[in-house]
Amino acid sequence: MRKSGLQVPTIFCAFANQSGGFETRYSLDVDKRLENLFWCDGTSRYDYSIFGDVLGFDATYGHNKYKCPLVIFSGVDHHMRTVVFGYAILSNESEASYLWLPRSFLEAMKGKQPKSIITDGDLAMKSAVSIVFPGAHHRLCSWHLLRNATARVERPGFLRKFCLCLMGDLEVEEFETIWTDIVADHELEDHPWIVDLYAKKHSWSNAHIRGIFFAGLKTTSRCEALNMQLGKFIHNGYNLREFVEHFQHYLEFMRRRELVPDYKSAYGEPVVKTKLEAIEQFAATVYTREVFKLFREVLMLASNVRVVSTKRTSACVLFKVAMYCRQRLWAVSWAEEDDEFSCSYQRMESFGLPCVHKVGVLVYLNMTAIPKGLILDRWTKRVMSG
Ligand SMILES: [Zn+2]
Repeated sequence: MRKSGLQVPTIFCAFANQSGGFETRYSLDVDKRLENLFWCDGTSRYDYSIFGDVLGFDATYGHNKYKCPLVIFSGVDHHMRTVVFGYAILSNESEASYLWLPRSFLEAMKGKQPKSIITDGDLAMKSAVSIVFPGAHHRLCSWHLLRNATARVERPGFLRKFCLCLMGDLEVEEFETIWTDIVADHELEDHPWIVDLYAKKHSWSNAHIRGIFFAGLKTTSRCEALNMQLGKFIHNGYNLREFVEHFQHYLEFMRRRELVPDYKSAYGEPVVKTKLEAIEQFAATVYTREVFKLFREVLMLASNVRVVSTKRTSACVLFKVAMYCRQRLWAVSWAEEDDEFSCSYQRMESFGLPCVHKVGVLVYLNMTAIPKGLILDRWTKRVMSG
């Protein structure tokens, strides 16, 4: 960034001409030249105030002529689309820069902490994340892990089983059994990458992450897709000020495109497809269209749910349920008084939508509406109007 010859005030003149709500943070090196720059606009900050429960943190290179790391903070909105919360250009990947960055972000976002964070696994970034966001659960991007696994462990058959450990619908004990087998089968007991990976299992294995809210995000590939797009707009040779301006223009373009689903969600009603019309209609009025489609997929499977037993306790009703032709039992409890449902599958906790077992119980109970406790605001149409 030193070569830019840009004085910090010049860059901020460019910002001043942009839309309202701009926040910038920068740091200078010993020669008083720009070292790191973070910026976000009013829309980013508003989006973060609503959808900042899950934060993606992704660094890429080479989109600007100085080859400085470009960092994008992003998340997912109620239409399940990528929203960007902020950007930064760092002059280096030092621990100090990585620590400066989330601190600047947090300051601009008035201190609002995310519940969970997903990163591509850079060590400096990992330690900065745990210092600045101590309460957030950290997940490593599945796509980066698979890529690294392919590069580092060249054993036929390894990748398929690793995928199962990474993404499979496993219980912790099942995970441990499969992992032990993989390591033994491929003689990986002393493989440093594998040893390290196992130590970090709480950051990547589905079995260990279950129950922690990630809004469906498993990868930072959404940011990577964004970066690919940016590559088309941002050519080498722009100076920093031009780069930032082009970046903002692209962002505006992306946001205008996002207005379409908002409109459809607000004014169009999807056609009812299941035989469970009342609850499907109800879901269509509550959820945005994209989220409604996900709910409907589950609703379609609800007729495959068998309630095997029910038991009334003083606090709740306990249902043992199984899927059609499956042995495995799931425990769904319903605290009638608070209308609270829980299930050992924990889809509500992880994703914010009820699992098929819960929906099966709703159908079994002849419910025509989804109980409040099973509706997460961030997936509803009303979340932006509140
Ligand atoms: Zn369930």
